[in-house]
Order: sequence, then C-alpha cells, then structure tokens
Amino acid sequence: MITFHELTIKKTHDLLVNKEISAFDLTRELLEYISDKDKEIGAYLSIRHDEALAEANETDKKIAAREEIDYLAGIPLAIKDNMLIKDWPATAASKILKNYRATYDATVIKKLKEAGAIFIGKANMDEFAMGSSTENSAYQLTKNPLDPTTVPGGSSGGVAAAVASHQAIAGLGSDTGGSIRQPAAFCGLVGLKPTYGAVSRFGLMALASSLDQIGPLTKNTEDSALLFEKICGEDKHDATSKAVSFSFSDIQKTADLKKMKIGVIKECFEQNLDEDLKNSIQNSINQLKTLGAEVEEVSIPHIDASLACYYIILPAEVSANLARYDGLRYAVNELGGTLKERYFKNRGRNFGPEVRRRIVLGTFVLSAGYYDAYYLKAKKVQKLIKQEFDKAFERYQLLLSPTTPSSAFKIGEKVSDPLAMYLSDIFTVPANIAGLPAISLPIWGKNKLPYGLQLIAPALEEKRLFQAGILLEKIK
Ligand code: GLN
Repeated sequence: MITFHELTIKKTHDLLVNKEISAFDLTRELLEYISDKDKEIGAYLSIRHDEALAEANETDKKIAAREEIDYLAGIPLAIKDNMLIKDWPATAASKILKNYRATYDATVIKKLKEAGAIFIGKANMDEFAMGSSTENSAYQLTKNPLDPTTVPGGSSGGVAAAVASHQAIAGLGSDTGGSIRQPAAFCGLVGLKPTYGAVSRFGLMALASSLDQIGPLTKNTEDSALLFEKICGEDKHDATSKAVSFSFSDIQKTADLKKMKIGVIKECFEQNLDEDLKNSIQNSINQLKTLGAEVEEVSIPHIDASLACYYIILPAEVSANLARYDGLRYAVNELGGTLKERYFKNRGRNFGPEVRRRIVLGTFVLSAGYYDAYYLKAKKVQKLIKQEFDKAFERYQLLLSPTTPSSAFKIGEKVSDPLAMYLSDIFTVPANIAGLPAISLPIWGKNKLPYGLQLIAPALEEKRLFQAGILLEKIK
C-alpha cells in the first residue's frame, strides 16, 4: 500500500527512479483511493482512468529502458477543468459546456505531456473561474478536506481539495484575482500566481485575459518551483507570453535572506483581521528576521482601490470573452425560434447567476456614456497601483501580507452575499492588477484551520518567492 499523504513530486520521482514503485502501480492505487475518497470530497468532475494508466505505462517503459526521466514523469496531477486536454471534456464547471470536448492540448498540458506527467482528472471549480468557494460550480459541491463543513476556496477549489486530500500529488489552477492563492491558503498548500505572461494561456479558457495566469498548487515550495520550471516560458500561441530564465537549480543554492529587505504592506493590516491570523503572520515575520531579513512596514497607498478596479476590469473582459458561448459553436445547442431566441435559451438557461451578473455588469461599464466613467477610470487606477508597487520595489526585494482576511469559511456562509464573497480576495487581487508574481505559503495559528502568508515579488522574480518559501519551511 502506498501512503499518498507522504508523496511530493520530488519524493515520488525518487521512488520511481529507484524502482521502489512503478508509475502504473502508483496510478492504479491512486485511482482506487480516489474512487472511495472523492465521494466525500467532490474534487473531480471527470477521472481519466484508462488514459492515466496508459500515460503511466509510458514512464515505466522509459525507466525499464534506463532512460533518464523528467521530475514530472509518472507524477499524477489534478488539472482545473478550464484547461484543455485533447479529446477530453473541459466544462469550466458550466452547463453551457457540458457536451464539449477539447480539440487540442493547452500549452501547459503539451509541455507536461512531453515531460511524462499523468493527468489523473479534471477538477471542479467555480463556473468559468468566477468565485471564491467553488460553490458556483454548476455540477457539485467540493468540501475542504481539512474541515468538510468549510469551503476549499475558489475558484481552483477542486484542485486544492484534490491535492490536500492526497488525490493528486500536485495540480494546476488558474488565478485571475486569487484563485490559486486563496484555495491554497484555505487548504494548507503552496499556491503560486506567476508573473503575468510567464506561463502561456493558450488552451486556458479566458476569464479576464489581461489578468489570467496558470500556476501550480502543491504540498511544498520545492514542488511549486519544479512545476513552474516546466510550464513557464514564451509561446508563439500567446502573444502576451514572455521568455523566462528560471531554472529549478537556481533555488537549490541557499538564498541569503540577510540581503533581503521585506516590506510588510501596512494597509492590509488596517482591515478587520482575525487575531489568530495576525499572530501567525507576526510569527512568520519574526522567523524571517531570525533568518536575517530586514523587515519593515511599507505603504501602497491606493492598494485598497484594487478590488473596485478589478470588479470593473474583470467583468468588462468577461462580457467580451464569454460572447463566444452562444449555443452555436461550443455550447449545448437548444434549437428553435429566431437567432435571438436561441441566444436567450442557450445563454439564459445555461450560464449560472454569477456569470450572468458579471456579463451584465461588464456590458454596462463598457457601454457608451459609462466607458470613461468606469472602465477607463479603472484602467487609470490600475496604472497608479502598478507605479506604487514599482516604487516599493525600489527599496524592498519582497512584499508581505496575509493571503486572505480569514481562514476557510463555512459552506453556504457567503453564497447569497456576492460582496462578502468578493472581499475574500481583497489581498490577492492587487498582484493580478499589477501583473506581479505572488505565492501563498501555509501558516498555522492556534485555530484548527490554516492561513496563508503571501509574498509578492517584482515581475519575473519568482525565484525570490521560492527561496524565501524554502527557508521558511525549513524552520518549521
Ligand atoms: N474570486 C475572484 C473572482 O471571483 C477570483 C477569480 C479567479 O482568480 N479566477 O473573480
């Protein structure tokens, strides 16, 4: 029997290479475990049973032939259901895509396939990644494995729940306003939102194209760096993608925190925060100081406008990006009536309430007469916030804040109050608005559920996030 809870990417790789387990047995046992465990958690929307076993076989063949294998070879991963795996369903947890099958591989999938990774299943999420609890899925509820009365966070809650309940060794989520980092914080995982453009978005269903990024959800920082190394880099299919010079070996050299100045974002602590959360952040600050870092307060004066800005820019892009789901091409096709009637039937019946709310809001902020007052103004504020971050990075190598204002909340607690739900992203949204890389590291206080410590770095300095994460993990 394999004990899945001990397995990280690195450990599994060593077991495979030393022939202590085969990729096939690992996958077979994991599938068995999932068939039982996921009844309770609800992390997966679809399981790639035969396909995953076939993928595992490929790695075993390579090992038998004494070929050198990649770190990701034979590693079972959970993939958020808004990323395309050729010939496999991709619903984005929406009814409108219930019969859709992907016709090509997303670039991240292509890269991981080449490395020999195993895609064990597609994970639940908030519909089209709009939400913070995975309760906006049109299909099922996902429970937080650490406390099944609470949500796993969202929108990548399915991936986070799968990894935290050991139904995958790691996974990929997407983060437009916090959807990797917030579930990581709620489920006790490491979640990375890379620099905008560091990872190709080709084959990721667009939510807000100017903010979306794919990133890893993992059990530790080292795994996060291994996955990031594999998926990052320029891609001719995504004009916003960038060349990235990151190598996993960069983080193996011990970082010198003595050379690091870390700014604690003052405004984040003026919010109503849990005492236990404040104390655990203070503990981490003390640990960073012990490691030699200089830690002081810094102000990002307009950071509190980030959320308002986000809820203008995001719906504006949503209203354009989701126009393609018209019931004629990808979506369920409810026939009959005029073209307009068909649109009403397909879009009206098959999009959930949160998706419809944002399409309406986005159409409004872009409409003649309101464009300047809302959309253009939000874009100007975005620029201002970016400049404030740039200025802070003239003095500091990293910025620090909590990932979320609280730990995981109860299922049902915020479903009928969209504003309360939006507020759970108050600390994560600024990094998306400014296009910066940010990581959430798990921290614990006196309460049973974990919190997240968020570190933000200048563009393309993911390396610093990993180095700090690894050092903090070592002293735990
Ligand atoms: N919770 C945020 C929202 O609903 C973030 C979503 C995301 O990052 N995909 O917009």
